[in-house]
This record gives sequence, C-alpha cells and structure tokens, in this order.
Amino acid sequence: MTESNYAPEVDSASPLGLQILEELRVLLLECQLVVISLADEVDLNFEDCLGGLTAVRELVAQASGAASLMSQNAALDSSWSTGPSRPKAIYARHTAAVNAGASRLTPNTSLIGTVEARLERLPHSDLSQNYSGSRPGCTGFVAKTGKRCTNTAIYLGAGSFAQHCYSHCTPGERQRYRDHQDRQNQALEDSWLEREELLRLVGRNIIDDWVQNRGQQPPWLIELAEQ
Ligand SMILES: [Zn+2]
Repeated sequence: MTESNYAPEVDSASPLGLQILEELRVLLLECQLVVISLADEVDLNFEDCLGGLTAVRELVAQASGAASLMSQNAALDSSWSTGPSRPKAIYARHTAAVNAGASRLTPNTSLIGTVEARLERLPHSDLSQNYSGSRPGCTGFVAKTGKRCTNTAIYLGAGSFAQHCYSHCTPGERQRYRDHQDRQNQALEDSWLEREELLRLVGRNIIDDWVQNRGQQPPWLIELAEQ
C-alpha cells in the first residue's frame, strides 16, 4: 500500500493497539529507571541518555493519548494530509472539531499516565504557596504619598505573616522571611533527594529483575542475528 492511495474512512485504534502503547510506556519508563540506577555501576554522565528517553516517552505518551481519543470515536476535523495523522495532529483535528461544535473528549486515564504525571510534578511544589486563606495587607505607608501601602504582607510560613510587605518590612521581619525561604528551599531539596533515592531504588530492583530473568538472549535476537 502506498501512501498516496491510503485513505482511511475513519481513524481507528484497536483495543490491542491501545494496550500495547501503554505497555510500551511502561517499558520505556522501566528503561529510564534502569539508566538512573546504572550510574551506580558505570561512571558515566547519563544525562543525554535520560534526556533522549524522556523525549521518546513524551512522544509515545502523546501517541497513546491520540489513540485513546480515536478509540472513543472523538470527533475529528478531516485530515489535512494523506496517510495516518501524527499524534499531535489528532489532538489538533479534535480541537478543530470541538471549535466547530463537537463535544470535547479527553484521553482515558491509565496507571502509567498517572505515575508519569506524578513524576513530572515538582515534589511539594506548593511549598512557596502553602497558605491559601486571605492575606493581610501591609500596615506601612508609602513615603511619597503618605497613603497606606496596598501590598500584601509577606508570608513567614506556618500560617503567619509579617506586619509589612517586603519593601516596608523591618530588619527582623526581613530575617524571618529569609529563614522561611531557607526552610522552604531545604524542604524542596530534601524531597528531591528523597525522590531521586526512591527512583534509584526502583531502578535497582528492575536491574535485579533483568539479571534474574534474562539469563539468555531473547529468541528474536538470535533469529535476527542468524539472518
Ligand atoms: Zn508596604
């Protein structure tokens, strides 16, 4: 089949195809975790390898999401090219259909998708904003106009605020603010290290699994070698 006469009536994705895409995502994450732990065995900087794997994982995740939309029969604008669409074109075609009045669908959630989203989030990324109530205003006055300052008072952590905004605060308040920042940075760094440690441990377990279960070469590799 040549590309020019390939004209699918509907863009479809089989349940098996969806499942295999998810398995591929799991395997790619497995590879990434292994590379993280490989640094314990091989003194190399693996940043490029990890960057490449991350990029591939993102592409496959995108394909998996697009396939999920297709399997749900999401409305798609007609294809702008011949042959199967690229994953991001499926998203764009769906958005175009939604803009024209179709209802918006989202890719189904999967376990691997949930884990990937969690790994992407900065751990405790809300630390700098860990106060959600209303914030008191600065009690200082603007020197030029003599009017009450309209800035918000600076947050000092643990639900407490200074009397002033940063530009009006006293040396003592400024010091407490710096201490609060230091504690935040430390907490953030600690949770990063904790996560790194967890990922390394998981990677280590996968390596042990590989060692145990893959004592011999897979048959397909031998078959290809003998071609
Ligand atoms: Zn102020």
